[in-house]
Amino acid sequence: MKSFSRVSFRPRSGPLGPAAAGALRLALCVFAAASCRPASPPPTDPVPSVFARVILVVDGETVVVEGGERVKLIGVDSPGIRRLADGEYRGEDEPWGRDSFRHLSRLLLHRKVGLQYGDPARDAEGRRLAFVVLDGELINARLLEEGYGRYDGGSAAGAFGATLARAESSARERGRGVWEGTGRFTPPRYGLVGPPDGKFHDPKAACAALFPSEDSFRVSVREARRMGLKPCPICLKRLALEDLAAD
Ligand SMILES: [Zn+2]
Repeated sequence: MKSFSRVSFRPRSGPLGPAAAGALRLALCVFAAASCRPASPPPTDPVPSVFARVILVVDGETVVVEGGERVKLIGVDSPGIRRLADGEYRGEDEPWGRDSFRHLSRLLLHRKVGLQYGDPARDAEGRRLAFVVLDGELINARLLEEGYGRYDGGSAAGAFGATLARAESSARERGRGVWEGTGRFTPPRYGLVGPPDGKFHDPKAACAALFPSEDSFRVSVREARRMGLKPCPICLKRLALEDLAAD
């Protein structure tokens, strides 16, 4: 299991609490000299104002919380996935889309999370924009640091834009996730995953043509391997050659 470094968060106040810390600072100032000025306040971390359980993960950047609100993680632009919505399949699978979706599901599904809503309150799709905090960790930054999406640079990030941009830079430098290999999005080399047989196939192969399209989804070859899927024995040779050729 891969271990990811966590984005660290500064406690809002020390163990003393704000009042005691202020009194201590004042005492130190009096003690030190008249020229002592209070230090500028450290940037505040997102402070959750709402706590809610995640009941559904829609994709790598969107969850639904109890009560039915669709929440978009501020700053995170995750690769898309093809999904059923209102009885129709919409969107496209992009490299790392499935992996981002599964990762966010593992992290947040059925967990009670803290939300700090953003400004603007909603995006063009009507999703509620929020910072999501779990166990003191800002999940928005974690996803970017692990390479499960790009930083979208939206204004809702506000004072935390720099934190999110740094998290993305870290992923780019390490070639993680969507930045794998080249430090930019790699061209997709898709495999096709059919009915749940745990295998992925060459999309052009005869066996892949047997899957009804509504029962299959596309993943990049690397992503499929990361998800623990095995190549179909019939398609193995072709997929392996394509994978090598593209590297
Ligand atoms: Zn096959």
